[in-house]
Amino acid sequence: MADKALVLVVEDDQNIADLVDLYLRKNGFQTIRATNGADGVAALSARRPELVLLDIGLPGEMDGFDVCRELRSRSDVPIIFMTARDDEVDRVMGLKFGADDYVVKPFSPRELVARVEAVLRRSTGTASDNRDPLKVGDVVVDLEAHEVRVGEDPVDLTRREYALLRAFAEHRGLTLSRRQLLDQAWGTDWVGDERTVDVHVRQLRVKLGQHLDLRTVRGAGYRLA
Ligand code: CA
Repeated sequence: MADKALVLVVEDDQNIADLVDLYLRKNGFQTIRATNGADGVAALSARRPELVLLDIGLPGEMDGFDVCRELRSRSDVPIIFMTARDDEVDRVMGLKFGADDYVVKPFSPRELVARVEAVLRRSTGTASDNRDPLKVGDVVVDLEAHEVRVGEDPVDLTRREYALLRAFAEHRGLTLSRRQLLDQAWGTDWVGDERTVDVHVRQLRVKLGQHLDLRTVRGAGYRLA
């Protein structure tokens, strides 16, 4: 990931914008800010940021969803939604806005920075037809071959288990909720019981055993250490 990546923060709440700004800068990012959608779109054209953090409830003509659509029509810049309410989360999950990730307020600054870094890692220097394998200890997730190996030995995973492992590997160190895991591994249009994640996590633990430090975070979800 390039150092000093430029992040555009589109957020009308001054306190949140200040906090986001502070933590991004502390972690080596540069930031520019916009307080409404139109300014956000203008800043994309003028400054070409490498990532956009986008509030949904924005004043003026365009809400965050409108801004996302507009940005997408112009650019492949990674976009992370900052959502405030459950109904916003539902819309983010239910519709294909082309955002790369989302965080739910109130988020911890540490979580935000980790998500920004994860999305940038995925988007920079990794063209979709030439992706480096993800490595977690001696577990290798080969994105090209859709294969998982421990050292040289292939591990037989189902499609769902593979998708789940990939989601963990791409968000290593972050706690992922069952909903987020479903979104990543099953797709946002999947409808069903979130507990199905538990079943597949159990299978991953059986198949990868001590090679995978996959932790249960009580009341929150799972985290790959
Ligand atoms: Ca707002």
